[in-house]
Amino acid sequence: MSSILVFCKDCGKQVPSAEARDQLCLDCRVRKSVADLRDEHARLWRKRERYKSSQANVEQIGRQIARVEDRMGARIKELVPNERHAVDLLRRELETARGQRYTIKGV
Ligand SMILES: [Zn+2]
Repeated sequence: MSSILVFCKDCGKQVPSAEARDQLCLDCRVRKSVADLRDEHARLWRKRERYKSSQANVEQIGRQIARVEDRMGARIKELVPNERHAVDLLRRELETARGQRYTIKGV
C-alpha cells in the first residue's frame, strides 16, 4: 500500500494515491458516476409529488424510483469494495437527490 498522498482535484481532500484515480478521491468518483441517476431520481421524486392526488400514478412512479435507487446502489458497489461504505455513500447520494427537490421547488 503506497503512503503517497495526493489532493483530490474536485474536493481538495488528501487521499492515499492508491485510493485516487484520475486525481479524484473515491467519494468524488462515486458522486460523478451516479450523477445522471441522481438527477433522474430527483426528477421522479418531483413527479411523484405532483401526482400525489392520483394513487395509481404514485405507485408506478414509486416503482421507477426504487429501480433508479437499485441502479445507483449497483454502480456504487462497483466502485466501493467495502459494503458498509457503499451503503453510506448510497444514502448520501439519495439525500442529495431528495434535497434537490427542495432547491428546485423554491425557485
Ligand atoms: Zn474528492
